[in-house]
Amino acid sequence: MSKGRRAHGAGPTQNQALVAVNDEQLLRYSRHLLLTELGVEGQARLRAARVLLVGAGGLGCPAALYLASAGVGRLTIADPDVVDPTNLQRQILYRSDSIGSPKAESARTALFDVNPDVEVVALPIRLAGTALEHAVAAADVVLDCSDNFETRHAVNRACVRHGRALVSGAAIRFDGQIAVFDARDPAAPCYHCLFGEGEDLEETRCATMGVFAPLVGIVGATQAAEALKLIAGVGRSLAGRLLLIDALHMEWREVRIPRDSACPVCATRRP
Ligand SMILES: [Zn+2]
Repeated sequence: MSKGRRAHGAGPTQNQALVAVNDEQLLRYSRHLLLTELGVEGQARLRAARVLLVGAGGLGCPAALYLASAGVGRLTIADPDVVDPTNLQRQILYRSDSIGSPKAESARTALFDVNPDVEVVALPIRLAGTALEHAVAAADVVLDCSDNFETRHAVNRACVRHGRALVSGAAIRFDGQIAVFDARDPAAPCYHCLFGEGEDLEETRCATMGVFAPLVGIVGATQAAEALKLIAGVGRSLAGRLLLIDALHMEWREVRIPRDSACPVCATRRP
């Protein structure tokens, strides 16, 4: 049954040559190949895909693990930090002996052990400016796993500029959020439509507020799921919807994200 597949079809790798799946990969990805929505074609799309992860912390770790184990072709992971002891409670790519190592490099080593088929590009920098533009332009899908509004807005602007789908996640205390902003769709809202800049939104950080360890796993894994669906071109994405989780009471809710027709980031690109 292919009803889960979008009528207008393929993900961002539609025009790329699909890479053949060999025997070893048939075995490794057999549980995906059994899914009629994915199958050999969907798996080949994952293998041909290039994904950018901005941030290799609580959200980026589980997202990267699922993207790598699922066989995404190239993962670029950008994070300027080194692993410190307070990360180990939730940043599941790292081990005690990772302390002091750059997160991007440590993530690459860990992901190679999971799946050597995946090319992991480690960028131990805070992505901004030209480097951010190049990284977004070179990706099919972008995951925002960062922890600050400045980076979130910069990543959003680059995704709108280059027409890339953005899978956004956030988590603090027991509260998490996930949304997709699909700049390939001219009717879709962007991150700025939802969270304007200069609105004195208070920056809340795990360092001062705390965060429940499995919550970042739930949010990061959901980001990976949305990215894989976007790449394979299956199902219904979270585009235009904000999913909210209250992990303390384990309640999920969803709100529509209205497009802001006066948004300074995305309004001008509309037809
Ligand atoms: Zn916008």
